[in-house]
Amino acid sequence: MLAAQEQQRSSTFSEGEKVPARTWRNMPSFYNLTGSRCNGCSHLEFPKAAACRKCGSQDLSEHSFSGTGKIETYTIIRQPFNEEGMAEQLVCSSPYAIAIVRLDEGPMITAQLADCEAGEIAIGKPVKAVLRKISEGGDDGLIRYGYKFVLA
Ligand SMILES: [Zn+2]
Repeated sequence: MLAAQEQQRSSTFSEGEKVPARTWRNMPSFYNLTGSRCNGCSHLEFPKAAACRKCGSQDLSEHSFSGTGKIETYTIIRQPFNEEGMAEQLVCSSPYAIAIVRLDEGPMITAQLADCEAGEIAIGKPVKAVLRKISEGGDDGLIRYGYKFVLA
């Protein structure tokens, strides 16, 4: 999912265009788990939304999530990531775990679990977000950081 989110964000740039490092550095969602709070109904979203999914209001404020939550579900990826050129860039090796984490504030977020063995992971276990290196190298030579979760 994180790779999918990154790909989705990258797709806002034209094909072949380099994404400037400042673009990534200015993405608070990746660094601070910043989402949005609806000023009409208080619904929370992560990542930031253009409009509230609950009431449709576009009157939203930034909301920084605590970064703590519980594992809603997870999977262990045993097949190495195989997209050309990406395997060397991603800072993880299989097997690795991807979890859907329900943040204490309610929204769910998909992220990699770090610093744990597969046998330690269980649905319902508390986790907390940490800032980690996601990838490095590639054509643009950028080091990309983002959130992962560790067992709390
Ligand atoms: Zn709302």
